[in-house]
Amino acid sequence: MGRIIGILSGKGGVGKTTLSANLGTVLSHEYKKKVVLIDANVTAPNLDLHFGLYDEFQYTLRDVLNGNVPIDQAINLCSRTGVKIVQSPLSKGRINLKNLKSVLKKLEKTHDFVILDCAPALGEEVYQIIDMIDEAIIVTMPLIPEVASALKTINTLNERKKIILGLVVNRAKNKNYELKIDEIKAVSRLPVLSVIQEDTKIPHSISQGMPVVIYDKNSKVSTQFRRLAANLIGQEFEEPNVLERLASLFNLKRRTIPVFVQENTF
Ligand code: ADP
Ligand code: MG
Repeated sequence: MGRIIGILSGKGGVGKTTLSANLGTVLSHEYKKKVVLIDANVTAPNLDLHFGLYDEFQYTLRDVLNGNVPIDQAINLCSRTGVKIVQSPLSKGRINLKNLKSVLKKLEKTHDFVILDCAPALGEEVYQIIDMIDEAIIVTMPLIPEVASALKTINTLNERKKIILGLVVNRAKNKNYELKIDEIKAVSRLPVLSVIQEDTKIPHSISQGMPVVIYDKNSKVSTQFRRLAANLIGQEFEEPNVLERLASLFNLKRRTIPVFVQENTF
């Protein structure tokens, strides 16, 4: 049976979608896990954009939940990363999440991870999704309003007896106005699974339509996502070696040298 993990927060803009995309990519691309990512932010979906996918998909979560097509037809493979994605439509029209539970039950039989990129705040759609997940990861920024809102979500998850794997503190800038990691641990009573720095490589990678762990695998920020993914599956993480880090620092991507086969040269 696979693990159904919800990526949640209090506030928006803290990095849930970025985490979902990168975590899913590492688990699938690097660790060969069967991963399906679901854009469960049905009001403002954008997970597909992290993979450079726009409206290529014929069927979306709405078609599945409205009973028009089986889930298999809405699972789309991102050929560059190997990640499977179920997109939510950007176009207007209600999605009734009631049927999502049975879809998740089906998916967990054939996947190691079913990861739900959720909406911010505790609206009706997030409450519904909380009831359907087994485990949650809470994303926050090291700032007072973001942590305060995260605490509300944590409370709700605790009340509903859900397993919270821990917090991911994203967009850390190491500024003195930020909360300290020990303070965040103490107030949330949860482990901090990872601290991910603010890095312009992330918006850059999104502009290129690929998660940063593919865009620049050995950069510091990618290493933080990759270490988190390894810990999640109890795998020892092999840190990038000095040459790999140097190459990343100077943006020297390894290139495959094309082999040109000349014809009719004899
Ligand atoms: P959420 O899904 O919680 O609303 P997103 O993942 O969409 O948040 O991230 C919000 C914005 O912040 C995006 O534009 C993304 O590029 C940017 N972002 C996320 N994480 C980082 C980071 N560690 N460093 C820099 N920018 C980031
Ligand atoms: Mg999002």
